Amino acid sequence: MTAINTPHKLAWYYGEPSKYSDLLNGKIIWKASILLGEGVGIRFYSNNEPRPIKHQFLIEFENHTAMGAAIQMYGGMGSFLDGELDLFGHAGGYKTILCKNTVNKPCPACGTIIKKEAYIGGSIYYCEKCQKL
Ligand SMILES: [Zn+2]
Repeated sequence: MTAINTPHKLAWYYGEPSKYSDLLNGKIIWKASILLGEGVGIRFYSNNEPRPIKHQFLIEFENHTAMGAAIQMYGGMGSFLDGELDLFGHAGGYKTILCKNTVNKPCPACGTIIKKEAYIGGSIYYCEKCQKL
């Protein structure tokens, strides 16, 4: 897994992209989450096909195929090993999109900054553009 191979001013990464390799290498894909937002061009590469020289996100699979992502104008990318547990207590089985880790970061759908507000004794995280009242 390679992130930030080619720097791009309008490429946003969730968390620390230098840690994406540790999150994804050797993982079964449903235990790790990959987020590629609007504006990210995704391409599949067969096992004989040369990989792109310029990209912002490249994942090599065990069968020697790959998925590459490049920013066209702007876009957000991320990789997570979700800390939330599913109903059976398995980490990564329940994927949160908006949470304490994404507050003040761009919405994966539209790029608007994610807000946090107090609500009934807890906190809510939302995109005011995508989640209008
Ligand atoms: Zn949004």
